[in-house]
Amino acid sequence: MQDNNKKRIYADNAATMPVLPEVVEAMLPVFYDNWGNPSSLHEEGQRAGRALEAARTTAAGVLGCRPEELYFTSCGTESDNWAIKGAAYAARNKKNKIITSKIEHHAVLSTCEALEKDGFEVKYIGVDKGGLIDLDELRQQVDDKTALVAVIMANNEIGTIQPISEVAEIAHGAGALCFTDAVQAVGSIPVDLSKLGVDMLSLSGHKFGAPKGIGALYIKKGVRIRNLLEGGGHERGRRSGTENLPYIVGLARALEIARERMGDMKRVAALRDRLIEGLLAIPHSCLNGHPTERLPGNVNVSFEYVEGEGMVLWLDKMGISASTGSACSSKSLDPSHVLLAIGLPVELAHGSLRFSLSHANTEEDIEYIIAATREVVEKLRKMSPIYPGYEAIPPIPTER
Ligand SMILES: *Cc1c(COP(=O)(O)O)cnc(C)c1O
Repeated sequence: MQDNNKKRIYADNAATMPVLPEVVEAMLPVFYDNWGNPSSLHEEGQRAGRALEAARTTAAGVLGCRPEELYFTSCGTESDNWAIKGAAYAARNKKNKIITSKIEHHAVLSTCEALEKDGFEVKYIGVDKGGLIDLDELRQQVDDKTALVAVIMANNEIGTIQPISEVAEIAHGAGALCFTDAVQAVGSIPVDLSKLGVDMLSLSGHKFGAPKGIGALYIKKGVRIRNLLEGGGHERGRRSGTENLPYIVGLARALEIARERMGDMKRVAALRDRLIEGLLAIPHSCLNGHPTERLPGNVNVSFEYVEGEGMVLWLDKMGISASTGSACSSKSLDPSHVLLAIGLPVELAHGSLRFSLSHANTEEDIEYIIAATREVVEKLRKMSPIYPGYEAIPPIPTER
């Protein structure tokens, strides 16, 4: 099993995905031949400007919105900040309430906490044990003081997919805007803005095969929010900063490829289900997240009597890249807020392991992951004093 020559198995695509070769190919000519500033009036500028608008049209076509409703940003975090702060400060004098869920990404949660410090009222709606938002609680909370309802479309830790159209309907019923963080959803499940009903949606290139450092925010035509970045008036005066043309071209290409590969997500979902089945066959384990309303690549399982960090490090030695909860919280020792929100006891929240699969994974990968995880869990449990089958390490004989 500890064959160090074996190729590595990357199963942490929710943290980031490798840049697709086709995306690199689409980007390289932009670096070499189309390096102009899209705002410049001369030929180099005009060529860059045309490539920028072509990429916007391609991306909007995949997402089902108009090109002029799509604004390129530096990342998912910026898009989340812009949507939430932008909507909050635009409504400040009339409405001061924001509603979100307890299982948002930190880019949303921390933004909401910052707004609370600045005098806004924020309500965090609970979820059931599968991670689905409590729509009744949302209906009770949303009122004419509510500026914005912000709910994550698909959770980055447990993969639960929310009924976003229903959330949007409830928000609109009270005259509030609806924003969804779709960073994990875009590229993994079909996202059609012409049907979804939200006012704003965020996405991030590096979660579906474009590079890190490029994102976008959809803002529905007619929706007014405050700017986050002021400057030279790029992106139709709403998001200043010279456009990152190579990465924008890469993002548009990655969206096209994701659409072409959407059919392959059925195969990925079958790999996910086999992995879940194999991991749950290990004693004292449980699945975190929803059994069916779940991203095709997401597997999150907790094992009693073991720590997630220990499992991740041992799996890494065996050539497998996995994660505990989320990459953002994996350096802190606090249990995941998402796992606590679905009612998981703290011990089980500490013993969670997340695999996030992509089109690049194979059945062979899955069988190896199952076997390796079983070995690692058994090894760690033998060393855990709280495990019923604990095998005490024999004391070192002392010299007389
Ligand atoms: C990764 C992620 C983000 C942040 O996107 P970055 O581009 O890394 O800033 C936001 N929300 C969710 C759900 C994510 O998974």
